[in-house]
Amino acid sequence: MSTAPWQREWQNAIRHPASLLKRLGLDASLLEPATRADRLFELRVPEAYLQRIEPGNRHDPLLRQVLPVDAESADSAGFGDDPVGDHASLANGGVIHKYRGRALLITTGACAINCRYCFRRHFPYADANASSGQWAGAIDYLRADPSISEAILSGGDPLSLNDRRLGALSEALASIPHLRRLRVHSRMPVVLPSRIDGALLEWLTGTRLTPVMVIHANHPNELDGRVADALQRLTARGVRLYNQAVLLRGVNDDAATLEALGERLFELGVQPYYLHLLDRVRGAAHFEVDDATAAALMRALAAVTPGYMLPRLVREVAGEPWKVPIDWTRHAPM
Ligand SMILES: *Cc1c(COP(=O)(O)O)cnc(C)c1O
Ligand code: SF4
Repeated sequence: MSTAPWQREWQNAIRHPASLLKRLGLDASLLEPATRADRLFELRVPEAYLQRIEPGNRHDPLLRQVLPVDAESADSAGFGDDPVGDHASLANGGVIHKYRGRALLITTGACAINCRYCFRRHFPYADANASSGQWAGAIDYLRADPSISEAILSGGDPLSLNDRRLGALSEALASIPHLRRLRVHSRMPVVLPSRIDGALLEWLTGTRLTPVMVIHANHPNELDGRVADALQRLTARGVRLYNQAVLLRGVNDDAATLEALGERLFELGVQPYYLHLLDRVRGAAHFEVDDATAAALMRALAAVTPGYMLPRLVREVAGEPWKVPIDWTRHAPM
């Protein structure tokens, strides 16, 4: 398969703190800490995302999601390597089957961007991903369990795989009679919108499975014109779109930002779905918003927002049969 434009864009992503700072006209004093933290989890930002960061603004909410900083080396109580217990739930072939009716496939460890708050900082993907052993194990697992009606492609970012491989996978999934939906969780429509091309639309919408995509946008500034076009290509082909955001200190922890995010998503045909409390992964403690603050934000948001634009505030708790809803309606501490 020849190299698609999105693959070239991905290959050309910025990977060095020095280039990032230079490109954005940022203070050289950020370089030393960035270089240190880059060794823990490497920097990666595609140009399409970089263009939405305000040059010279070291507090830009998009920059904060990608710039390595010293706070990442702080050890914080309760922040570990596997905060949601996924290592333990790995079944054969890279399948995580925690919730009834839905099975999640770890398709790849790769992503177009490296988000500093990500649980994936420490996940041993080399052992876990379904692509290394081809799909056979995952397909067998799904075929053997008629209670599963939805296959969820996750990672990493499943859309970092090429369309030939994804096409083969979606065909194999469609051949399993009890599957009804193919859900893709991806940050690509947001960080590398050129990924949503004709070849992708073909396999995603070309089987009998109902296509669902959950995009991961955290801030309204992430949703520029190129992203809008990509989402339009998806909705035009009947792909149902939802958004999952993570509540991140210094990024989207104010009601006005969350309101603007919901409005913009709605305008683009995307249903706000989850607002996740941070997974407590080592190196990301500086992003955490405490429960009481999160609840207060939800109350402020609910007071100004149509109910259908209101995401569900949830936390992932190891061993629970769903994402645990946080009750934000009471003022009392939780
Ligand atoms: C989040 C998640 C799902 C999907 O949950 P929904 O509430 O349906 O969005 C499925 N499987 C695993 C392992 C998950 O972590
Ligand atoms: S899995 Fe999602 S949050 Fe984590 S680095 Fe990849 S795109 Fe970012």
